[in-house]
Amino acid sequence: MPVTLVTVSLTELSRDELTRTLDELRGAYDELRGRALALDLTRGKPSAEQLDLAEELLGLPGAGTHTAADGTDTRNYGGLRGLAELREIFGPLLDVPAGQLVAFGNSSLELMHECMVHAALFGVPGSTRPWAPGSGAAVLCPVPGYDRHFALCEKLGIEMIPVPMNGEGPDLAEVERLAAEDARVKGIWCVPKYSNPTGTVYSAQTVRGLAAMRTAAPDFRIFWDNAYAVHHLTETRHEVADVLAAADEAGNPDRPFVFGSTSKITLAGSGVAFFGASKSNVDWLTGHLGKRTIGPDKVNQLRHALFLGSADGVHAHMDRHRALLRPKFDLVQRKLEEGLSGTGAATWTVPEGGYFVSLDVLDGCASRVVALAAEAGIALTPAGAPFPYGKDPNDRVIRLAPSYPPPAELSDAVDGLVLCIKLAGVEHLLRG
Ligand code: PMP
Repeated sequence: MPVTLVTVSLTELSRDELTRTLDELRGAYDELRGRALALDLTRGKPSAEQLDLAEELLGLPGAGTHTAADGTDTRNYGGLRGLAELREIFGPLLDVPAGQLVAFGNSSLELMHECMVHAALFGVPGSTRPWAPGSGAAVLCPVPGYDRHFALCEKLGIEMIPVPMNGEGPDLAEVERLAAEDARVKGIWCVPKYSNPTGTVYSAQTVRGLAAMRTAAPDFRIFWDNAYAVHHLTETRHEVADVLAAADEAGNPDRPFVFGSTSKITLAGSGVAFFGASKSNVDWLTGHLGKRTIGPDKVNQLRHALFLGSADGVHAHMDRHRALLRPKFDLVQRKLEEGLSGTGAATWTVPEGGYFVSLDVLDGCASRVVALAAEAGIALTPAGAPFPYGKDPNDRVIRLAPSYPPPAELSDAVDGLVLCIKLAGVEHLLRG
C-alpha cells in the first residue's frame, strides 16, 4: 500500500504541490477503499492469544478444591471483602495494605460506578450533602482521558472540568487552583500509570501534590484508577508513588479511592476487581455493597489466587503478555514513523506500558481522519472520545488500541490510517 507518498513536511509545500499531492493521495485512498477492509483499532481488548495465557484458570480450582487458606468454604455465601490470599497478592501490586483492600466483582469500572452512584445518592465519608444531580458537584478530568470515566459522570449529571495532561500527569498547578477555589469540585479522575490513552506515568511530585493539596470540598476524592499497574511494555517496571501513604502523611487519609482489576491480566470478562482506601472509606463502600449482595464470587477469587500464586507470579504472567503485546506496539511505532515522520501531519506517544497510543493530528482534522478511515473499513475510536462529553476542543486526538488485531491486520490498519491522516492534513491545508 503506497503509504510513503509524502515524507516531506506538508506545511512547507506550495499550493500547487499540495494540490498535486492531494490528487496522489486521493488515488491511493480510492485504492484503499477498493480493498473493502474490515479492521478494528477501537477498544483496548486483550487478544485471543493473551486470553489463552490464562486458559488454565478454566480448570481451577477443580472439583474438591474449594477451601480458602483461612478455612472459608468459597462455595458458600459471605466474605464481602474478598479472599484474604488474593488481597495479599494484589495489595503490594496496587500499593494498598491487604487489610484495606476489597476484592469484589469482575470489573473495576463497576466499582467506580458503585462509588460514584453512592456518592451521588448519599455522599462519601466527610460529605455534608450528596453529590446528587443538580447539586453542582463537579469532577476534574485530565484530558485526554478514559471515555468510560466521562460517560459515568455524564450519566449522573456530575459536571466535568477538563484539565490538560503533561508529561508528569495532570497539570498540577491547574488542579490545585480549581480544587482550592471551588467547593463544588469533589474529585479528580486519575489513571496514574500508563494512562489511557497517553501512557503517562505520574511523577512522585504530582502524586504528592494531589495527595496534599488544599481542597475547598471537605469530601474531595481522587479516583485512582490503577488499571495498568503491572502492564509494562518494556523491561522497566515503572513505579508510581504510593498515593494512600502520601495522603495519610499529608493528613488526608480519606482522599484516595484506589481501583484495579485482573481484566487485562487473566480474563477480561471473568477477572477480579479491587478497591483500596482508608478504613472509613472501605467501611462506607462495603456498607453499601452489603445491601446488594451477600458476597462476591469467591470461587473465582480462589481460582485466581491458585493460578497467580504471588505478586511475583503476577509479574511473570505479565511478562508473557508483554511478549505478545510488544511486537504489536513496535509495529505501530514503525509504521507511524515510516509514514508520518517529517510530514508534520501528526505526533504520537511512545508508551512504555498500558494499552494505547495517543495520536495528535493537525488541529481540526481528527474527526475527518476517523471518518475517512471508517469509509475505508478501518474502525477507530470516535474522535472526541477521550474528552468529557465526547468533545475534543481542538479536534486533534485519536486513540489507537493495537492489542486485539493480529499483526497482519494491525499492519494494514495502520498503513490505511497513515494515508487517511495525510489526506485529511492536505485537505485541511488547502482549505486554510
Ligand atoms: N480503567 C481504565 C483506565 C481502562 O482502560 C479500563 C479498560 N479499558 C478499565 C478501567 C476497565 O477495567 P475493568 O475491566 O476492571 O472494569
